Amino acid sequence: MSCYSITLLLIIFCNGVSVITMLQGTFGYVEYFPGDPNSRLIIAAPHGGYLKPRSMPDRVAGCWDGSRCVWRHSCGFPDVSRCQANTARDTNTRDLAIRVWENMEQLTGIKPHLIISNLHRVKMDPNRSVNEAAFGVPNAMKAYREYHSFIREAYGRIRGAGLFIDIHGQSHPNRWIELGYLVSTRRLNENNAIPQFSSIRSLYNSLRDYVTFDHLLRGDYSLGRLLNRRGYRAVPSPGIRAPGRAAYFTGGYSTMTYGSRFSGRIDSIQVESPVHLRTDRRRPTYARDLAKVLRDFMALYN
Ligand SMILES: [Zn+2]
Repeated sequence: MSCYSITLLLIIFCNGVSVITMLQGTFGYVEYFPGDPNSRLIIAAPHGGYLKPRSMPDRVAGCWDGSRCVWRHSCGFPDVSRCQANTARDTNTRDLAIRVWENMEQLTGIKPHLIISNLHRVKMDPNRSVNEAAFGVPNAMKAYREYHSFIREAYGRIRGAGLFIDIHGQSHPNRWIELGYLVSTRRLNENNAIPQFSSIRSLYNSLRDYVTFDHLLRGDYSLGRLLNRRGYRAVPSPGIRAPGRAAYFTGGYSTMTYGSRFSGRIDSIQVESPVHLRTDRRRPTYARDLAKVLRDFMALYN
């Protein structure tokens, strides 16, 4: 069967002015809800998808060629010890991202940009480079490219400085909210963080005359502090300045790609929420609080 690109446009006419409310990629595998023209915030949910099309083989493991993993279903003998694909779904993060997005608009009157993958991670992982993400499967590669082109579209609509938030979920035993800035556990533990290598390099450069990087990362001006003030434990934050020996995610492919580590004025932060905050009971309140925290943090961008 041949495949057709069926990018869907949902357009509403308000007072004679057309407003694009949603762009959908091929087969609805990815979605983009464009933000308001004055929004500086992009929210993405790469691992909360649920669709498992039978036409796409499962991502299991790549092959080891002696120096690196080859991510192809036809690569030969899969090496599950060295090249196993991570296929765990970040449960309820799709809904969490939508709730944060809705709450942000209610709280600020400004709708952020929202990009969602509806594919289960066992089929495609947007938070990896394209080969590991899609294993060479044409429709998976297409969804991957559409997901990232939607993010780039959102980027193009932001004038000046902004922030990209990648919404994830983890089940580490400490049950902290893990905030990833591309600063390693070792550097956090040793108080040796280097702003130029972080995903918030641009924000730091704009504030450096009166804010230290430590203030911004885990002190008075940090996202972690705002979470602490609303009763949440987060790392890094004034309450938990470094992970110590605990498991901690520093930030993945999208945090690296869409933050300001290498260039630009848009920063990125990976937000890894623990399981207990993603339950049906806790998620609505947590999403509301996370939106308030992001609203307050975004004041640094004005
Ligand atoms: Zn994830």
